[in-house]
Amino acid sequence: MISNSPLDKTQPTTRDIREANRLLVLHQILLRTTSTRQELSQLTGLSMATVANLATDLLEEGLIMEAGMAASQGGRPTAILSVNAAFGACVGIDVAETYIHFDLYDLALKNITEHQVELPLTRKEPQDIVQAIVTGLDSLLAQAGLSMEKVVGVGISIPGPFEHSTGVSVFAPSWGWVNVPLKAMLEKEIKVPLYMDNPLKFNAIAEAWFGAGRETKTMAAMVWGTGVGMGLVINGQLFHGASNTAGEWGHSIVVAGGRPCRCGSCGCVEAYIGAPGILQTLAEIDPQSKLLFPENQTRSIEAIAAAARENDPVALAVIQKTATYLGAGLSSLINIFNPELVTLGSWVADSLVPVVLPELLKQVEQQSLSQPFRAVKFTLSDLPRNPVSLGAATLVLEEFLAEAGRQPVMIR
Ligand SMILES: [Zn+2]
Repeated sequence: MISNSPLDKTQPTTRDIREANRLLVLHQILLRTTSTRQELSQLTGLSMATVANLATDLLEEGLIMEAGMAASQGGRPTAILSVNAAFGACVGIDVAETYIHFDLYDLALKNITEHQVELPLTRKEPQDIVQAIVTGLDSLLAQAGLSMEKVVGVGISIPGPFEHSTGVSVFAPSWGWVNVPLKAMLEKEIKVPLYMDNPLKFNAIAEAWFGAGRETKTMAAMVWGTGVGMGLVINGQLFHGASNTAGEWGHSIVVAGGRPCRCGSCGCVEAYIGAPGILQTLAEIDPQSKLLFPENQTRSIEAIAAAARENDPVALAVIQKTATYLGAGLSSLINIFNPELVTLGSWVADSLVPVVLPELLKQVEQQSLSQPFRAVKFTLSDLPRNPVSLGAATLVLEEFLAEAGRQPVMIR
């Protein structure tokens, strides 16, 4: 279960425990689609009496509903519980440098509809992005025939470092933004609870709820695209760090004094294994390579993967180098963090993980301590197409459910 609450809570109160139990039960109902009280008791480790009490409250509030009957172990029919999907809707928005993707989900996190607007690659003023988000959100709701009153919250991912506590976009290099109070600007326009963060965090939430991280407590969800980074989950909670930059692993150093990186430093992981870094490696090995399309990163990465499968020596050399750099970065990570799982996601991972993984594992084994290496699994992400907006909507749902545990929900 992912939560945005701080890790260093003092002693939990009865109310905290009740809230946590309630989330535990709701989480299981959501994940399994339908469950009986008995199943929920087994899955959560809570007593039948606790589950029954929580279910009664949730039914009264309209958050869950009875969706038929099943035979219980004693032969007596027992109610099947499911989330009342029509209770409300959550919105997840992925603001990227070249597009804004909008997803509308019901309360069972089933996608209702989606909408996308393309953003030309030009400098954007904050007000332009606010306007594009507001207009796109209106279009999304119009597509579904839904009014804003039904929306329980909106989650928005913003590229670059985001100051969680103040709602400030610290730095968006492509748009030339420094310290933009984006959340406050959006709150003037969008009158439902708003949750904002960067894509690394939302991707990790989606991995932990719906991806390979479902069964793990401590994991790193790596995003491997043009940029490189991670979201960290510790003891089932998203880890923010002191100023919400935990997981900026892409800017840790793998080659001291190495290639310049767009963050201003030199020798970062991203400078070697981000898509432009891989193209640079290819150009260093063979400047005339037929696999090199400097204007089209996607085409180049796909060409390298295809050629490596055919044992093309240049492609294999690129894979070898990439595995060495990535292996060094991941070895430091697992030595420090000791995770159960590292998921590798996004478009470069989709193309390269199948060809790079054997060499990568060899490199990590050589460069890390044996204990954390034995404890960790590496896997290609199996999440659906836009995990960032899914993660953003999931956080909205989680915050809504947690809030609903603190005070009675208004049934609309
Ligand atoms: Zn860097």
